[in-house]
Amino acid sequence: MKIIFLGPPGVGKGTQASRLADALGIAHISTGDMLRAEVASGSELGNKVRTLMDEGQLVPDETIVEIIENRTLQSDCINGCILDGFPRTVPQAAALKEMLAAREDGISATYLFNLSEDQLLKRLEGRRGVQNRKDDSEDVQVERLKVYQEKTAPLIDYYREEGLLVEIDGNGTINVVYSRLLAAIEKMLPPEEVNAGEN
Ligand code: ADP
Repeated sequence: MKIIFLGPPGVGKGTQASRLADALGIAHISTGDMLRAEVASGSELGNKVRTLMDEGQLVPDETIVEIIENRTLQSDCINGCILDGFPRTVPQAAALKEMLAAREDGISATYLFNLSEDQLLKRLEGRRGVQNRKDDSEDVQVERLKVYQEKTAPLIDYYREEGLLVEIDGNGTINVVYSRLLAAIEKMLPPEEVNAGEN
């Protein structure tokens, strides 16, 4: 099972992805977390992507595609994974499709988290400084929203046309959004496979 989480920065994808991955016993792959770990470790890759990330720009498609190619082969992905933050451009989505096809695999569903611009800005404001992320300053947050609209939002139509798009209302508390997500997931999976009670 390969699930994609799509939505603007601040919508709460990461929180929902980690909870759902636990419930389903699949891996949570956050490209943002992986890249931040590279930056923190001072690796060659980390040094290459640091400035782009700090400025709210995307890292090159080839770089992130290679990371995903390797990461999805690790043993914790055997039952599947949630891709959180990837793909972020149409070429990344095309590369993902090709990579999975070569493995005789495919995307199960793409969940798009929707939130009004007002709510989004409020949440991003609340996050400022809290997670100690350099890219959480106000001007970089605004830049990331712009990059999302330009480069990532086209994926909404891309996955809709593929017949894979499921929209989730991102308003409300973490628990409220999570119940909506579970209801949507259960349409794809029999309920006994969703270990909802333990979370
Ligand atoms: P957000 O809070 O906007 O959801 P993430 O934590 O997912 O951000 O990602 C942080 C940064 O990491 C992005 O602004 C970008 O520089 C880089 N990044 C993460 N995923 C990708 C990707 N799929 N393609 C290009 N760059 C990415």
